[in-house]
Amino acid sequence: MLVLPTGAGKSLCYQLTALILPGLTLVVSPLVALMVDQLRQLPPSIPGGILSSSQTNEESSETLRLLCEGHLKSETDQISKYLYDNNITAKSYHSGIPASHRSRTQELFCSNKIRVVVATVAFGMGLDKSDVGAVIHYSLPESIEEYMQENGRAGRDGRLSHCHLLLDDNTYYKLRSLSYSDGVDEYTINKFLCQIFNNDTNVLGDICSLVKESASRKFDMKEELELGETQYVRLLPQLNVTCTLHFHKTSPGLLSDKDMLVAMILKKSETKQGHYVFDIPTIANCVGVTTIDVSNQLLKLKLSGEITYELKDPSFCYVIAKKPEDMCSLATYFTRWLSDVESHKVRKLDAMFKIARFAATECRKDNGCSDSLHTSCMNRNISDYFSGGCDVLLAESVNKMSKSSPFLRADIKIPSVLTQLVRAITNIIRSMTV
Ligand SMILES: [Zn+2]
Repeated sequence: MLVLPTGAGKSLCYQLTALILPGLTLVVSPLVALMVDQLRQLPPSIPGGILSSSQTNEESSETLRLLCEGHLKSETDQISKYLYDNNITAKSYHSGIPASHRSRTQELFCSNKIRVVVATVAFGMGLDKSDVGAVIHYSLPESIEEYMQENGRAGRDGRLSHCHLLLDDNTYYKLRSLSYSDGVDEYTINKFLCQIFNNDTNVLGDICSLVKESASRKFDMKEELELGETQYVRLLPQLNVTCTLHFHKTSPGLLSDKDMLVAMILKKSETKQGHYVFDIPTIANCVGVTTIDVSNQLLKLKLSGEITYELKDPSFCYVIAKKPEDMCSLATYFTRWLSDVESHKVRKLDAMFKIARFAATECRKDNGCSDSLHTSCMNRNISDYFSGGCDVLLAESVNKMSKSSPFLRADIKIPSVLTQLVRAITNIIRSMTV
């Protein structure tokens, strides 16, 4: 048991364990406000989330969703541990691992000090290593383009290399349902746009905020409004915007003489039984600073014992760069665009599954294929896929494919359970000559 005063470094106890140990670190806190602070103070290398009684269903399921994605990451750790236990030098690589560890892993791999890197797609962008002997996909890639690009890292030195794909129907169904879950209708989008560009309150150039309500949560502002052809909004970091504040040492009036922020808070707050309730973006706009400046200033006052406060209402924060002339046609445009993006993603996934499934179950192995080696049918089906409506980027990847393909062999297998899958990976690696 550890008893320490405020500021003595209690948070190191869970931050260090989260950094050093594999898996998940669970922190149980007695106060919701404390949890929010703990989450905000986490360094970027430790992704975190909150589960508390004050959350809406949507908020807690969002945390659980992130947790599940984190689980996917720890799958790489599980596999590399299994390999290590079976005398194959392996390390895992994913975005949950600190950058310094990741570059160390990359170095060890490039200098052949470890044989295997078990990685998410984050690994190998611009990897400068020509003697990669095999790429093993232990789950289904989301598109043929992705499959090609990742396999392209093998066989660059002209030695015969293998790209193995361990196919499993469940991953396909899971990925497919995830692609569809983003869908939103025109009514929701229209309502959301009206909230964003609210003419009564939201001024061009000011910091605006929108509480993440269930109705609008499905719609991701970043993709559509920030990155579209016309930039309508500029996104700022998300924030708990509603602040309830109590003064403790100096009287509010005296403190406001010395502190412009406090003066503005007194002017813009609603008072309820001695609490001051205000909206952080409003204060930031009036003082002419950023929301982060306001948060930092509040924290400083708190540490000096002047105030305590609680933050709530997680919100999108943004600045309006341009107001749309016609909201309805913008909503129509976005709805069509979103549904195009969605069906495009699903089509790509279907195409990937179709050719892998064909190789594993339907290929009659009479046209250059044998056993689980399906280089011929895979190459044929991939060329067919790219020849139908090929854009410049796709043409490039076809080019890359034809350069490396003489040295690549495609191997497709169906292991049914995880233990079989991990064993299959182990056997593949063992069968390769060092
Ligand atoms: Zn085949």
